[in-house]
Amino acid sequence: MKNVDLIIPVYNEEEVIDLFHAKLTAAIKDLPYVFTIWYVNDGSQDATTQKLADLARTDARIQVVELSRNFGHQAALTAGLDRSHGDYAISLDGDGQHPPELIAELLKLAESGYDIIQTERLDAGGTSAFKRWTSTLFYRLINRIGSTHITPGAADFRLLSRQVVEAIRGMPEYHRFLRGMVAWVGYKSVILPYMPPPRMAGKSKYSLKKMVNLSMDAVFSFSLVPLYIGISLGLLMLLLALVEMIYVLSFWVTGNISNLAPGWSSLMFIILLVGGFLMISIGVIGVYIGYIFQEVKGRPVYLVREPAENDDKGSTAD
Ligand code: UDP
Ligand code: MG
Repeated sequence: MKNVDLIIPVYNEEEVIDLFHAKLTAAIKDLPYVFTIWYVNDGSQDATTQKLADLARTDARIQVVELSRNFGHQAALTAGLDRSHGDYAISLDGDGQHPPELIAELLKLAESGYDIIQTERLDAGGTSAFKRWTSTLFYRLINRIGSTHITPGAADFRLLSRQVVEAIRGMPEYHRFLRGMVAWVGYKSVILPYMPPPRMAGKSKYSLKKMVNLSMDAVFSFSLVPLYIGISLGLLMLLLALVEMIYVLSFWVTGNISNLAPGWSSLMFIILLVGGFLMISIGVIGVYIGYIFQEVKGRPVYLVREPAENDDKGSTAD
């Protein structure tokens, strides 16, 4: 039987953890896989720690990873992925918003040869209007300026095959935006839409600050556009310098040059010219920083995909 790792980050989820675990075990009861349930306790300060220890005593499939403090959802997911060893790793939230009943469907798709099964949260009453609005805005921005396309509504609820888990582990970057990283690695992927139910209990652990941090990580690790703004502004200023020169020349040609305030033309021209050159130099520095940034991220230059057994075998038959 194949091994499956379930990775569940939890942060102060005392109200929901027992409920969630009951729902999860019911959902995976009849599935023919060996499950390891990784609860990554992201520095909870409430009774979550105790509850997880109690649960682990009743269910041998549970492994608890205790982070030393609250490192955040993405770090907790990474801790789980780093420890996973099965054929498939499935990450899901511990609040029931990523319905465990979908695990069966995720595994079915994985068996048909997909390496990444990314779920897509459909708009529904389960999430607040504010969350939906900020999420739409965010995906629009990141897909406009980023080089990797990220499915709007992609949640951290997905199945990854072993080779994809290894690929993600080969990306040592510190600021981790897993949705983007998973989109970046490629491989055979498919999207599974689902309706998000409301939280089973408790409140959202994603504070506004955490949401802002996550979007910053996404924008700055997947786009160099902000660094290049300087160049565009510089070119714009040089263009203005040119327009100003033509403007002044038009006065000179028509013999009305004395209508301009003395000194205005030369001062304006120099300001625009120098400003333009300065902005362009800043932009050039930005480009170099962009290159340095790409280098320090240390992402692999390419990844090789091992075809699944049930991939098209036509070409190998000889
Ligand atoms: N979470 C975490 N660390 C954090 C914040 C959240 O591990 O710093 C977990 C949380 O316990 C939950 C999941 O990440 O299992 C998603 O968080 P939440 O449901 O609060 O986010 P929302 O659904 O409101 O976006
Ligand atoms: Mg939630």
